Amino acid sequence: YFAKKGKKGFAFCSSDQQHNNNRRLILERDLSKALAQQCYDDTFELKVVYQSKHCARSHQLIGYEALMRWQHPELGEISPVEFIPLAEESGLICELSRWMIRQVCHQAVCWSQTGIDFGKIAINISALELINLELAKNIIEQISAHHARCDWIELEINESALLKTPDIAIKTMEQLTNAGVFIAIDDFGTGYSSLVHMKNLPANYIKIDQSFIHNILHSTTDQAVVHAVIAMSHALHKKVIAEGVETEQQLQFLTDHGCDAVQGYWFSKPVAAQELNTRPAMAETA
Ligand code: C2E
Ligand code: MG
Ligand code: MG
Ligand code: MG
Repeated sequence: YFAKKGKKGFAFCSSDQQHNNNRRLILERDLSKALAQQCYDDTFELKVVYQSKHCARSHQLIGYEALMRWQHPELGEISPVEFIPLAEESGLICELSRWMIRQVCHQAVCWSQTGIDFGKIAINISALELINLELAKNIIEQISAHHARCDWIELEINESALLKTPDIAIKTMEQLTNAGVFIAIDDFGTGYSSLVHMKNLPANYIKIDQSFIHNILHSTTDQAVVHAVIAMSHALHKKVIAEGVETEQQLQFLTDHGCDAVQGYWFSKPVAAQELNTRPAMAETA
């Protein structure tokens, strides 16, 4: 049973907590079951959706971010915000990541063979994977095993993931960038990167977290943070991308302040690859 120490001493968990615990156990079990199927057809519960990234000034497509989706047979769509942490706790994350890299490499090969210019496809890497000294080697080997190219692939590494094991993380990023893989620091501004680490960071892009973009037209604090991140990144010869851009006014503000690239619902929601293939490779130009 589950017990918890509350204000009045030990008490049984509320039914809410009990419900959450049950849900976690069920999701962990079912994610493991789904992955074990090793199934790559349309019936598979896991899917990849792609969201475009654009040059802030020209709106030209520069790449896609691959995001995972899980359609649970009984519980419906489960958000990665819920199942990625579960996969991290249960050790499934590495297998999940391998599956993702395989899907993305196959998609890149397919687009390249059809003559579709996709720029780069970005994959999110979890903090737990970054503690593995072999990570760079493994990823580079997987890319070549799937007949893809390193310069087709970008990895998004959470800012807070960097802080857990900065030395290993930086070494890994160096090996990857040397092989031609792009690196972006995701959710930037939500961790507490020291300027010492920032200075030597082998990253191509700094990705400003969407929480700073939502209210950017009205919050002078958010404006100041965005301004400072852009100035610092440029001084360190890194490009800046803003995520969560939903309106033309936000896009305008970011462009006016020198942000290099943008991503968000204003351009496109994340969609299945088939939905992208039917559209021209370039987004509508303003
Ligand atoms: P993230 O990497 O920061 O991805 C951005 C999230 O913002 C995505 O949510 C995306 O759908 C959403 N988004 C994009 N544009 C907009 C916008 O204009 N407005 C708003 N409100 N939201 C926007 P999603 O797909 O639910 O993913 C959430 C998080 O789950 C991701 O955050 C990432 O940390 C994690 N995740 C997703 N797929 C994977 C994966 O394959 N591997 C790992 N390790 N993590 C993943
Ligand atoms: Mg990301
Ligand atoms: Mg992000
Ligand atoms: Mg985020």
